[in-house]
Amino acid sequence: MIDTGEGKPEYLTNLMEGMKSCGCERISDIIVTHWHIDHLGGVPSLIDRFDHEIRVHKFMPERKEKLFGGEGSRDPYKIWPEDKFIPLKDGQIFRVDEENTLRIMHTPGHANDHVTLFHEEEKAIVRFFYLSSSTFFSCISHDSLRQTMCLVLGRLCFVI
Ligand SMILES: [Zn+2]
Repeated sequence: MIDTGEGKPEYLTNLMEGMKSCGCERISDIIVTHWHIDHLGGVPSLIDRFDHEIRVHKFMPERKEKLFGGEGSRDPYKIWPEDKFIPLKDGQIFRVDEENTLRIMHTPGHANDHVTLFHEEEKAIVRFFYLSSSTFFSCISHDSLRQTMCLVLGRLCFVI
């Protein structure tokens, strides 16, 4: 599973319905793309919902970024303790099944721990960031957006 939303109760309801409709009964791993609340806020309620172990992965930067308004208003490690994350590594491979392999690409800019997921078989980006978020545009400078996009594009040229 990639990201968990911000933790609204209806999210779990929708998730459970979605999982049931596609015959999915378990979540083995959660990959958190970056520390902002709208991506990891749902981790605790999701972990509580299931009886089985779920591994939670996130890139762990050397320094924690300062809090700001909107999506960056909560300390991520008060939502999910720092030592409970399994650290992601740049270039790490997740073999989902026989036909799906994800490569982790550390792409800071939007956030210093931001990762982009690259689907090896399809040569496609699975997760980048929300371009449609007004919060995103009000909180993130154009320079940081440009930095992340350049990193992603540069890495794609290398990967493809
Ligand atoms: Zn964000």
